[in-house]
This record gives sequence, structure tokens and C-alpha cells, in this order.
Amino acid sequence: MTERLAPDAVGRAAALLRDGHLVAFPTETVYGLGADARNGRAVAAVFEAKGRPHFNPLICHLPTADAAFEEVFADDRARALAARFWPGPLTLVLPRRPSCRVDLLAGAGLDTLAVRVPAHPLALALLEAVGTPVAAPSANRSGGVSPTTAEHVLDGLDGRLAAVLDGGPCAVGVESSVLDLTGAAPVLLRPGGADTAVIEAVVGPVGRPIPVAAGRASETLRSPGMMLSHYAPSLPVRLDAVTVCADEALLAFGPPLSGAGVVWNLSEAGDCTEAASRLFSGLRWLDAEGARRGLRGIAAMPVPVTGLGEAINDRLARAAAPRDGAGSAA
Ligand code: AMP
Ligand code: MG
Repeated sequence: MTERLAPDAVGRAAALLRDGHLVAFPTETVYGLGADARNGRAVAAVFEAKGRPHFNPLICHLPTADAAFEEVFADDRARALAARFWPGPLTLVLPRRPSCRVDLLAGAGLDTLAVRVPAHPLALALLEAVGTPVAAPSANRSGGVSPTTAEHVLDGLDGRLAAVLDGGPCAVGVESSVLDLTGAAPVLLRPGGADTAVIEAVVGPVGRPIPVAAGRASETLRSPGMMLSHYAPSLPVRLDAVTVCADEALLAFGPPLSGAGVVWNLSEAGDCTEAASRLFSGLRWLDAEGARRGLRGIAAMPVPVTGLGEAINDRLARAAAPRDGAGSAA
């Protein structure tokens, strides 16, 4: 059963989040399905509760611009936009700091992170009380309609999260605008609640509109052959390995195959939620270790297509797909 918390129970909601539970909370856009962004297991549980068939990067919510810019590098454009729009419906995609506390899964393995300070008093009170970045996509099952009341959240997710903080109805239907500031020129990944003309006035060259990324933000091409939200190791990945060689790195699931040059086990116990929380850190570690030891590739053991296994398989298939050029995607 999911607890329905009154607005004065912010402390309880914060304690649940800090303990690794999922808590839905109101923002000015829609209700978010929140998790402590530092906690890989909690972030994996978000994807599980939503029933998402793939991992896409989540927006991290913080109570102030200063708190946000402790996790990501902010340039002058980011600071000017934050001063103009935060708290409010503008999400900024910026490079992660090396000290960034946000788990790699929350950012789908990318070196960038989407951050936002929401304009809702209850959301801000919760974020202050939690004291950690909170990763939160909309609090609905995958493919469902974004919820604008606590009732909607329970309709779709009752029993799949610990609690929903009831702040009454949100201002309906405006998602945040998502602006990518990781390149030389800003790119609008998703138009939303922030007025594009005002964004342009703050950062754009006078009279020149900011380009809008074609297609869905998660599929935007950053450079040929590379998906923006697609982290892939530079070593080739071999799927469904049932044997492994000494010159390969092994991404194991369950009891590991023997004979690999180096091993990262996603989950000894064969648990898909644990495996999801260790996927991106594992690929990065194997990639670095494998390159350091001169190994020729990464062999990935099969992962069942149940629960989060579907999203894990989707990401492994992308990592194994042939691509142009060398190096990791974004
Ligand atoms: P939602 O969580 O449904 O509000 O969607 C978040 C949006 O932000 C999606 O379109 C994501 O693809 C986009 N997004 C989040 N993080 C990043 C990132 N690091 N790089 C590019 N896009 C991002
Ligand atoms: Mg959504």
C-alpha cells in the first residue's frame, strides 16, 4: 500500500526518500516519482515502478541553483538562465562534476546531467529536507498520462511506491523545457513551460533562434552515429556470452563464467534491480580496466528479459551495435 501524506508530512516524505524508498511529490508541472539520486537501487526502482522498457536519463531536482551547481559545471549562460528561470520549468543539461553525487543510472550513464529547481513550495520544502538531489520522472506508468493530482499517481502506481505527498492539483500539462548547454551553442531538446523567446533573449545571439533538436530528446544525435542518451563503451561488446576468453572482460550476471581477464558482476544473485543499478558503472569500469590491460572486448552474459531485464537488454544491445568511429557515445 502506498501512503498518502498530507502537506505537513514533508519530514516523513524526506525520511522515506533518504531510506531509499520512492515518494511521489507535486511540482508546478506534474507529479514526479522521486528517488534519492545518489542511490542506484532507488533509481533502478523508479524505472521498475514505471515499467520503462529502456533507461532514459532522469531530471535531478534540487532546492537551489547553488545546490544544482555543486553537481554540474555551470557556465555564464547556465548562471544567467538559472537567475532568470529558477525556481521554474526550465531544465538545464550540463556536464557532471567529478564530485557529482548522482548515480550513473539516473543519467543513463552519460557524462551530462539534467538539473532543475522546481517552482512548487512543497517540492522545495521536500528537497530542502532531503538534502540530496532527487531524480524524478513523471509519476505514471510508462506510456501513461502524466499525473497532476495525488489521485492520478495512485491510479497508476498504487503499491509501487512508498508514499505520495499530496499537494493538490498542479498547474496542468506543462512539462519543463529541456535545454542542452553542453555544446558551444545551446540546443532546445524539449520545448516546455519556459518561454523560448525569453531563453533566447538570455543566451542566444540577438535575433537568432535557438535550434530545436529533431525527434525525441532521448534520440537526438549529437554527432553522426551517436545517440545523445546512448552511453556505449569503446571496447566492442559481445552479447549472450556462454564462454569467455582470457583476453576479454566479462560482464557477468549470476554465477560468473570462468576464464575472463577481468570480471564485473551485475548481480551474483541474478537480481535485475541490482543489475540495473550496477550496469553503467560496470560498463565504464570494464571499459577502463579492459583498455588498461589490453583486452580486446567485453563479453556480456545473458540477462533474462523480465522486469528491468528488458531495459538492461535494450542498453546492452545498443552498446553492442556497430557504430562509426571509435570512442564512447556522449
Ligand atoms: P521527463 O523525465 O519525462 O521529464 O523527461 C526528461 C527529459 O530530459 C527527457 O526528454 C530526457 O531525454 C531529457 N534529459 C534528461 N537528462 C538528459 C541528459 N543528460 N542529456 C540529454 N537529455 C536529457
Ligand atoms: Mg512522462
